[in-house]
Parts: sequence; structure tokens; C-alpha cells
Amino acid sequence: MQTSSIPTSSTLTSSTLTHLECGRCGQRYPAGQLMNLCPACGKPLLARYDLETAKRTLTPAALRDRPATLWRYAEVLPVQRAEAVISLGEGWTPLVKAERLGRTIGCPHTWIKDEALNPTGSFKARGLCVAVSRAYELGARELAVPSAGNAAGAMSAYAAAAGLPAHVFMPADVPMMFRIECAELGASVTLVDGLITDCGVKVRQGVQQHGWFDVSTLREPYRVEGKKTMGYELAEQMGWTLPDVIIYPTGGGTGLVGMWKAFAEMEAMGLIGPQRPRMVSVQSTGCAPMVRAFDQGDEFAEPWQGAKTVADGLRVPAAVGDFLILQALRQSRGTALAVPDQEMLDHARTMGSLTGIFPAPEGAACLAAQIRLLRAGWIRPDETVVLFNTGSGLKYAHLWA
Ligand SMILES: *Cc1c(COP(=O)(O)O)cnc(C)c1O
Repeated sequence: MQTSSIPTSSTLTSSTLTHLECGRCGQRYPAGQLMNLCPACGKPLLARYDLETAKRTLTPAALRDRPATLWRYAEVLPVQRAEAVISLGEGWTPLVKAERLGRTIGCPHTWIKDEALNPTGSFKARGLCVAVSRAYELGARELAVPSAGNAAGAMSAYAAAAGLPAHVFMPADVPMMFRIECAELGASVTLVDGLITDCGVKVRQGVQQHGWFDVSTLREPYRVEGKKTMGYELAEQMGWTLPDVIIYPTGGGTGLVGMWKAFAEMEAMGLIGPQRPRMVSVQSTGCAPMVRAFDQGDEFAEPWQGAKTVADGLRVPAAVGDFLILQALRQSRGTALAVPDQEMLDHARTMGSLTGIFPAPEGAACLAAQIRLLRAGWIRPDETVVLFNTGSGLKYAHLWA
């Protein structure tokens, strides 16, 4: 075990982290060391907290005076020492009432959580901010990630802020801006002939050979902790209530799994009641492993062959947290649906011109899904619906030209 470079005399955060627990087999592990998947069964580990202690200080009144970043929820975040918090101002993004869009599509209570306002222009900043901070705290010396897009940029940014070397492996056909962003943030970028899964293999070689720490999504326990703060923010911004429906563009599913975890934590702390939104996963018809598994009633998702979509965040043929995504969809009485890329691109302009938010294609996919579900009668016109615009359209210049 490497030792941390942070002095042990430093100030403590109010984190109430107690241990890690496997999301599948339930095996428990101490939280004070760098870990990836469950050594017993190879599935994702989840962070657990002392919520009885957390609820004494994590109150709606106390939150009013806290910073406008995701670190306002420090009790339910894993970082123990204040000096290890690497922050660029992530989180506390606006929840925008989409008045004109809502009226136009016949669903007036439509809201957009605009994650494009995060550092590096996507919600990947949330997960990587927390994962990089925690890895730094636990003594990681070099970080690595496979990514087809925004995760690599966010990892590069937080690694740069922490002063840790970053190794990024991207498919060779990754859009130029994603690659440029990582390079300008000082990461070492390797282009791989193949898909994100092939990039993952390269990362694991580097882990073996050089002792890098792998921050692939759900292969370490803390990216999901950063992304769960979307659930806390949504509840806080809606006055400690939740919408009827959440539509989420699903790749690895970290945000969906994270929000579902956040709702359970919030209920345990008495911040919300038992009511839950129906969770909707939207994917591309060119890569829809979760939709297929959901429709077939499967517990795990078969890898998608020949994954192809312009929505880089959705080009994930196999997700290690597939069973957690499917559980959340089913427990919430939600659904999963795929939309064609062209429909996403068309609806990017619908969203842009009616709200002022220029979405990533993944964000536009949520609107395409909402319209389909309204037409099918699955969403009623009077229901409150939150769409996640997970990234900015600006990095996808190649799509709009
Ligand atoms: C990564 C990404 C997604 C998918 O997020 P997951 O939580 O991994 O499912 C969606 N949209 C954008 C813009 C992304 O970068």
C-alpha cells in the first residue's frame, strides 16, 4: 500500500463513510484503501455511510449556508480530509423550467437539469472530481481511464488539479475536441483501434505493468458517489420533493445508479419520503444493451455487437453495473427505450431553440424519449418530468456543421 502525500494532521471533512459493500454479493470491505471491483465476485463496490450521524448535520437548514458545489453534501461523500478535496466548482447546476418547450410538446411541467455547466462541460466532472480526490487521498500516484468522450476530459482536469499524471485511452475515431481537451489538460493520450472495451483492456495492462489506478466507471467505488449528488440536488432544488419521471441518457449508468442510491440515503435520513420518480433509461438504437435486457426481463445485459452512435457517452456496449441499472429501472416502475441518432440531432435544435440550452446529443435524446413516451401515454401531460442534459453541445462541433 502506498502512503498518502497528505499530512495526517490536516482538517477533517464531515464525511461519515464507514465501509464499502459489494452491490451484488454484499461482502463488506474497509474503506481506507484503494479498491476496484469486489475481489470476491468481480462486481461494483458501493460506499456506505453512518446515516444516523449524517442526518444530524445534513439538514435543509444547514444546507442553506453551504458552498454551491457538490461538496455541500460532504457527510455523504467519501473524502475524509479537507486537503484532499480537489474542486473546480462542480455541481449545484441549474434546474431550468422549460416553459416554452413544455407547452410545445404538451407537458408543461418539464424541467432540464443542465449539467453542461459543470467544469469540462459535462456531468462527468461530478464523478471524476470525487474519484480523483479520493484516489489522491488514498495515495494513488498515476491515474488511467478508458473513455470515448467526456470522462477522459474530466479525469484529465482533476488529475491536473491534483498534480497527478493521467493516462487516457480513447478509440481512434473519437471526435477531435475530446482528444484535444485531454492533451491540453496535460494527459498522456493513447488512441486505440477499437471500442471503449478495447481501451479498457489497455488500461488494465497499464495497471498491471505500472501500478496506475483505474478510474473506469463503477470499477472503483467513488465516481458513483460524485454522480449521486445529482439526486441530492434535484430534491433540494425541488423543495425536498422529487419529480414523477426522470429521463436519463444511459451509457455506464453511473448517474442513474447514483441517483437511485441517493434517494435511499435521503429517505433513511428523513429528507424525503418513500415516493420515487419513475426512472427512464434512454439509449441509441445503435447501442442499446440496457433496453434489450430490460425488454427481455434479464438481470444482466448481453454486450451489444457493433456499437455505433454519435452520442459518445452512450457508446457503451457492456456496462459493469448493468444489474444495478436494471434493478433501479424495475424498482421504480420505469422503462428503457432507444431512439435513432437522427431523432436526437433533430431534437437538439428543438431543445436549443425553445430553451436556450444547447445540449449534447445525449441530452437531446432525453427530449426525443419524452416525446415518444408522451405519445404512447406512458407519461401523462400533467406529470412533472426532469430531463438530464448531461453535457454541452459545444464539444460536438462535428455533428452540427
Ligand atoms: C458519459 C455520458 C453519458 C452516460 O452517463 P452514464 O452515467 O455513464 O450512463 C451521458 N451523456 C454524456 C454527455 C456523457 O458524457
